[in-house]
Amino acid sequence: MRYLITGGAGFIGSHLSEELLRRGHEVYVVDDLSTGSINNIRHLKTHDRFHYTIDSCSNHYLMAELVDGCDKIYHLAAAVGVKLIVESPVRTIETNIRLTEVMLNLANKKKRPIFVASTSEVYGKSEQFPFNEDGELVMGATTKGRWSYACSKAIDEFLAIAYWKEKKLPTVVARLFNTVGPRQTGQYGMVVPNFVRQAITGQPITVFGDGKQQRCFTHVSDVVRALIGLMDHEPAYGNVFNIGNNFEISMVDLAKQVREMCNSKSEIVFIPYEKAYEEGFEDMPRRVPDLAKIKASIGWSPTIALPQILTDVIEFQRRAV
Ligand code: UDP
Repeated sequence: MRYLITGGAGFIGSHLSEELLRRGHEVYVVDDLSTGSINNIRHLKTHDRFHYTIDSCSNHYLMAELVDGCDKIYHLAAAVGVKLIVESPVRTIETNIRLTEVMLNLANKKKRPIFVASTSEVYGKSEQFPFNEDGELVMGATTKGRWSYACSKAIDEFLAIAYWKEKKLPTVVARLFNTVGPRQTGQYGMVVPNFVRQAITGQPITVFGDGKQQRCFTHVSDVVRALIGLMDHEPAYGNVFNIGNNFEISMVDLAKQVREMCNSKSEIVFIPYEKAYEEGFEDMPRRVPDLAKIKASIGWSPTIALPQILTDVIEFQRRAV
């Protein structure tokens, strides 16, 4: 099969490219390197079934040709990372909505099945734990930048589902819950690569808020397995799925675990949200996925537990230092 991956030089896209190549497929990547990096795909550049173009997926002519030449599409290109989102809301909204519009429109012309990446952010401030795909999405005020990310991704979801319902375009949407692993950068705010870098370099480990907020972390290789499984399973088309792990940990416990695993003497410091992000920033105290739907559909469950996830990130960052 020939796969087109937008955002293929990103953290998740590069792992997906690797796995598709390993399974014998042909991979075409488009990435503008805005948050992705050539370093993520450097080792693939000489592979004879790997092709890449550094450009934006808003380049309609380029994308039309690539869509025409492929069998299936993964649309992963998006603005990600809470820090980036709060600092650049215009870029976030425009990137997330515009690129998805372009990709769905082109996919529809050639009726190519397309996967659209969404996020657990769309559940917003919901308190219906665990988060179920049919549950309510609870957004905050439009004056608070964070929610623009959730809303832009919710629009992407609406659009993907609309194309399926109205135009019979095969689409799959998945909401990714805090994906972590080698190659993820802390530059855009993600907590695990940040804590690991801080612990390795002996800097203070920065816990935002009171640190009692909880998250569930999923290894990128588990996520990649789910992405491939969903696109290989026609009954999944037209559906929205959670992809995540349901082991919960508080940020303060995460900081302690990272410090211990790195044999680090870093102190753990607490930074108020308004200093870390912006005045009035709203965080979610909990975020945990209901995984029944994806398990019932493709038999997928996460297999890699937090200690192994952290070991992989620590090893990667130690090699990179
Ligand atoms: N966080 C933290 N210190 C950091 C970066 C993030 O305590 O250096 C917190 C953040 O406030 C949130 C959690 O860690 O409560 C997860 O943040 P991340 O940006 O990785 O993902 P989110 O779940 O917010 O999308």
